[in-house]
Amino acid sequence: MTRLTGQCLCGEISFEADGDVPVMANCHCTACRHSTGSAFATLMFMKEGDVKITGTPKTFQHKSDAGTTMTKHFCDTCGTPMFTQNSAREGMLGLRAGNVNEHEEFTPKANVYVSSRMKATLLDDSIPAFEKMPG
Ligand SMILES: [Zn+2]
Ligand SMILES: [Zn+2]
Repeated sequence: MTRLTGQCLCGEISFEADGDVPVMANCHCTACRHSTGSAFATLMFMKEGDVKITGTPKTFQHKSDAGTTMTKHFCDTCGTPMFTQNSAREGMLGLRAGNVNEHEEFTPKANVYVSSRMKATLLDDSIPAFEKMPG
């Protein structure tokens, strides 16, 4: 069990999570780069029911390259990207490690979509790298 807390830049959206974090990964896909404005997304997936959200994030939906529906949740006031959902992984919520106070808990197990990573991004060779999404 992992206990995580976090909030957006302005504090309007916050969360408390308690549960397992079965998936931790860095995603280098183009959508993640755009939606975070960063080189890659740092994702910690938990069961939706294990995450208590305070405040109401705004959402934006788009299609993934696999044709699934992606829902991005972000703070309407400060713009901080907060959560992400994939219709192919129902019931799971992706938290962004950069918003987590206990960020030492973030130990990515893989780099995914390295086919679209920025040239400047160095990869940790000690964890697997996948051209796209495994499985
Ligand atoms: Zn905010
Ligand atoms: Zn991605």
